[in-house]
Amino acid sequence: MEIVHISAECYPVAKVGGLADVVGALPMYQNAIGCQSFVVMPFYDILFTQKNTFKKVYHATLKFGKETIDFNVLTLKENSLDFDIFYIDIPGLLDKNYVYSENDTDRFLAFQIAALDWILQRENTPKVIHCHDHHTALIPFMLSQSYEYKSLRNIPTVLTIHNAQYQGWFSHEKVDLIPEFDFSNVGLLDWNQTINPLAAGIKCAWKVTTVSPSYMNELKLNANGLESLIKAESSKCVGILNGIDSEVWNPEKDTFIVQNFSTETIQEGKKANKDWLCDAFNLDPNRPLIVFIGRLVGEKGADLFPEAFDLALKNSDISLLVLGSGMSDVEKELELLKVPFKGVYNAFIGYDERLSHKMYAGADFLLMPSRVEPCGLNQMYSLRYGTVPVTSKVGGLKDTVIDINEGGFGICHNEITSEEIANAIQRAAVFYKNTQEFETNRRRIMNIDHSWDASAEEYLNLYKSLKE
Ligand code: ADP
Repeated sequence: MEIVHISAECYPVAKVGGLADVVGALPMYQNAIGCQSFVVMPFYDILFTQKNTFKKVYHATLKFGKETIDFNVLTLKENSLDFDIFYIDIPGLLDKNYVYSENDTDRFLAFQIAALDWILQRENTPKVIHCHDHHTALIPFMLSQSYEYKSLRNIPTVLTIHNAQYQGWFSHEKVDLIPEFDFSNVGLLDWNQTINPLAAGIKCAWKVTTVSPSYMNELKLNANGLESLIKAESSKCVGILNGIDSEVWNPEKDTFIVQNFSTETIQEGKKANKDWLCDAFNLDPNRPLIVFIGRLVGEKGADLFPEAFDLALKNSDISLLVLGSGMSDVEKELELLKVPFKGVYNAFIGYDERLSHKMYAGADFLLMPSRVEPCGLNQMYSLRYGTVPVTSKVGGLKDTVIDINEGGFGICHNEITSEEIANAIQRAAVFYKNTQEFETNRRRIMNIDHSWDASAEEYLNLYKSLKE
């Protein structure tokens, strides 16, 4: 069964967040159970593409409104990944030194057209075209409506929503850029008088998935304006929990961490990694180390961090370390906290994949007070590294973290306020003092299986249910 994943991100090529982790892992697990899965993504001018050599497998021009645009399809000369990636190279448009910018309409529209033009002339017809988020959500519309792709109309499409906050809106003035279709169906593109790619994808895809069951339910109440659409289309919607790549995120083999460890060697392993972090960031290693890793945006509760951390550091004997970037005022305030809390607080404002691994490995607790969390991968990584998650009860967090007071293994809070975050941190500090229980719990969480195996099967069953 040939499956094409079309995505703006894919680890290890280009990663901004969880989308990359999913698209970089799911094809590998699908191939292990008999699929032929590969990825089509943009060719960006970034570290990965600069460090590797590519060969051209296709060249053509695409129609883009009144213009024609040259594009190439590239692939790695030597691929060490467990699945193939084909890169759409559109010089001057896609080959930037970033993945996203303020205005990406033309970039991702041209990317989607090029991907379909290439698929159109391939000998093999894929069994399923699997799109991810709004950057590729016009593909189900184009396949079902554009005359150009009539011969591909019977290929089932799946759209996975990794985050419904971002929908890719653009003005109807640009409608001519979309390959020609019967204009009486233009309503399929529209939501509230603008072209809304995510809405169009939800309307036109054969199946729509979200990255956790709880997130699917939440979208019916809060989907940044698409609630009624999700409700109306609910018969074709299903939530499938993401897995984690248990090879990349494996404390026994992880080459980014200071000392590898298993459940047997957890005590020494965690200590060595924690000591390194505390040394590098001037933190007190005798206190429980609580970390946050992620985008500093409202969805993650980051606007509350300065006040919450101030409260927590005054009330509890903890060390706190932040890795992330995002809202500039929050970044500044998090920098300022370094002065009054020297020796027990630090922040690295930026993106650092290696440091994130060291933090999952060396921390005692991982903080995730998200307001919106479609699945959340960090809490699953932290479990694998014996780091106790401290989370709000939304989306995928609700599906993966159970509170210690409810027979579980994490610390959960309902409200998302500075006080509640500080209270949850205080509960963590108290739990840490109960050494025996804390040690038993971290051994237990390392054994929780969140690998992709089960979810890959669920996707396969979904594909099989799609009849041409
Ligand atoms: P989202 O996709 O909403 O950002 P997820 O929890 O699904 O959140 O995935 C986040 C991924 O991005 C994780 O792999 C996390 O470790 C990584 N990440 C986020 N911010 C940073 C950062 N500043 N440095 C390193 N890794 C980061």
